Amino acid sequence: MARETFPARLLQKVCLSESAQCYHFEFEMVDRASFEYKAGQFLSAVAVDGNGKTQTRAYSIASAAQGNRFNLCVNRVEGGFFSNYLADLAVDSVIQIHGPHGHFVLHQPPVDAIFVATGTGIAPMRAFTQELFPETGAEAGADRSGGREIWCVYGTRHESELYYREYFEQVAAKHANFHYVTTLSRAPQEWKGNRGYVQQYVGQIVKAREVASGSAGLGSTALGQTQAEGAPPEFGVYTYICGLNNMVSEVRNLLAEHGWDKKQVIFERYD
Ligand SMILES: Cc1cc2nc3c(=O)[nH]c(=O)nc-3n(C[C@H](O)[C@H](O)[C@H](O)COP(=O)(O)OP(=O)(O)OC[C@H]3O[C@@H](n4cnc5c(N)ncnc54)[C@H](O)[C@@H]3O)c2cc1C
Repeated sequence: MARETFPARLLQKVCLSESAQCYHFEFEMVDRASFEYKAGQFLSAVAVDGNGKTQTRAYSIASAAQGNRFNLCVNRVEGGFFSNYLADLAVDSVIQIHGPHGHFVLHQPPVDAIFVATGTGIAPMRAFTQELFPETGAEAGADRSGGREIWCVYGTRHESELYYREYFEQVAAKHANFHYVTTLSRAPQEWKGNRGYVQQYVGQIVKAREVASGSAGLGSTALGQTQAEGAPPEFGVYTYICGLNNMVSEVRNLLAEHGWDKKQVIFERYD
């Protein structure tokens, strides 16, 4: 049986990168006063393709819950149906969705966190960051992380593909405990920032924690792991990874080599 879907109207569409054909979308539910979800979750969008076949694709919600509105961040995939359907969507068009879905959500209560993303994998990280450091509503300006250290490590090929860069830079400027680390895999000679893949910078953060806690190679102290008698372990840091499978696997392997428990590594794969 087909799931019940809900209509959502496109209010605004902004091209984030012309070269990568990536778009930011702002939608509003048509007949629902609120759309409740946890930051990091995804929705499923449903549409009929040119052959009359119903197609469903998952898209991370790129914003924290905000009444009946939500944002998406989608790039065109060459030859793909749904990404092109969305990229070509005109303002005021209505799409069908169901959700929210998924377990890619922040550990509660908040502890230290490393967000790792490539490409449009930044979408749920934007939602996490809005959730932890709200800029609107009653808690505007607050630090809902409770002063925890939060890193956002973001890798793309080119500078023009650092989606939402200004937003993340502003949050980092306002909150000393939010660290925004970018890296380009195909940087031009004149680029003064980091080069290479996200794994390298995640490795540096992890090593720095080990050094600071004097527990290089031991894992648990740097990981802030504690365990009351008879209780499951509590972790002082989590890593959240989102993007294509290769990157997700490499970051997971790196953390495993540093002694991280599988439960401390939460991930969402787009392919
Ligand atoms: C939980 C989840 C959340 C997701 N969130 C987002 C999101 O926020 N933004 C976003 O842009 N995409 C996201 N995706 C990917 C999205 O669901 C689609 O796979 C993507 O838009 C391509 O769909 P399509 O119909 O255009 O291409 P398809 O017709 O499904 O695929 C065409 C070809 O492209 C390959 N492909 C599929 N996805 C990608 C990709 N992302 N990059 C490169 N090649 C790909 C396929 O293997 C296939 O060979 C998410 C996927 C999952 C599982």
